[in-house]
Amino acid sequence: MRGSCLCGGVVFDVALPLRPVIACHCTQCRKTSGHFWAASSVPMAQFSLVVQDSLTWFQSSPQAKRGFCNTCGASLFWQLEGDDTISFGAGCLDGPTGLTIASHWYKEDAGDYYDLPDGLSPAPQA
Ligand SMILES: [Zn+2]
Ligand SMILES: [Zn+2]
Repeated sequence: MRGSCLCGGVVFDVALPLRPVIACHCTQCRKTSGHFWAASSVPMAQFSLVVQDSLTWFQSSPQAKRGFCNTCGASLFWQLEGDDTISFGAGCLDGPTGLTIASHWYKEDAGDYYDLPDGLSPAPQA
């Protein structure tokens, strides 16, 4: 399955299966996305960058970095330091994904202008 940013300066391929989507409402995800960050992930062995002309990595915390497009501003990737998986924005994927949102993380940090569904699994406190 292929994903890309808005301008096409970053294109990536991911091999199935993809992890169900996790919506993260933490302050960092709010700031980087402008809303909340909804991401799937794969092991690095299932991930490849096809185009990375405008890919820039931002060290968003001591433990994690975020990949974004320095031309169109798209939020694309999130990766823990030293981790063997990479998270990518589900909205970057082309075509139907077959994915569903499995959980919402950091509801306590969510914006006050939208409602969250009940009954979804809470965040592991990392
Ligand atoms: Zn772009
Ligand atoms: Zn977050």
